[in-house]
Amino acid sequence: MGIQNNNEHQHLSPGDAAPEGTPGTGEDLCRACRGTGRLPLGDPCPTCEGTGIVIEGIGGG
Ligand SMILES: [Zn+2]
Repeated sequence: MGIQNNNEHQHLSPGDAAPEGTPGTGEDLCRACRGTGRLPLGDPCPTCEGTGIVIEGIGGG
């Protein structure tokens, strides 16, 4: 009816536990690259795809 929401295109990095904005989750530093977005060799981190941030559950172990 004229209202369309095309914001459903969620992008998940391999290290993300859930889509951004999922209740009970939040951004956290990527442990694979420690938030740098790059691996020690200089390659982009595949876990967070170079963002240095992954979405993880809050309060989990
Ligand atoms: Zn990373």
